[in-house]
Amino acid sequence: MERAGSARIKAPQDFDSPAGNQTKPVCVAYRRAVNEKGNTMARRMFRARRRQPGSEPSRKASTMTSQASPARQTFDDAELRDRLTPAQYQVTQQAGTERAFTGEYWNCHDDGTYHCIVCDAPLFSSDTKYESGTGWPSFWEAVDPAAVEIHTDRSFGMVREEAVCANCGAHLGHRFPDGPRPTGERYCMNSASLRLERTDEDG
Ligand SMILES: [Zn+2]
Repeated sequence: MERAGSARIKAPQDFDSPAGNQTKPVCVAYRRAVNEKGNTMARRMFRARRRQPGSEPSRKASTMTSQASPARQTFDDAELRDRLTPAQYQVTQQAGTERAFTGEYWNCHDDGTYHCIVCDAPLFSSDTKYESGTGWPSFWEAVDPAAVEIHTDRSFGMVREEAVCANCGAHLGHRFPDGPRPTGERYCMNSASLRLERTDEDG
């Protein structure tokens, strides 16, 4: 396993996240399974119920299942694997991070609204996109405060603010407190989690 060799940016280059240490309160049966079998086994057991035959076991990162919204839109895992590219799936469903300067939007200056690649919810406006120099598309504000949820991410031995789509829970990236005015925040996003709906495409 390679460590991130780049000195300029501290960000995980590895799509695998470590096994989780928190539970997802699905139901009583799930909780009982957690108590008896442990987190990893319980998660595997319950995920298997929803998986269609022939699909690979999901390795969804545990860091993005905490504090889930009550009315979150859900998608069938097999459908997502079929619809999304491998990079899009790894980023949004497994809390992966695309390599800097490789994504579709880090150097994009077109006007429009960036939507969640999974559920199509509007997340960021090009009006709040700025040059962060990181190689990832960066915004100083979400299109709506309720559109992007912030969770505590303790993976990779760091404490970071994970940004997820409030509507579907897709991992988007992280938020850092070193952004420009007026918010001072930097939403460091993965291009693979976004789809730009360009303003001039309407007609
Ligand atoms: Zn979404």
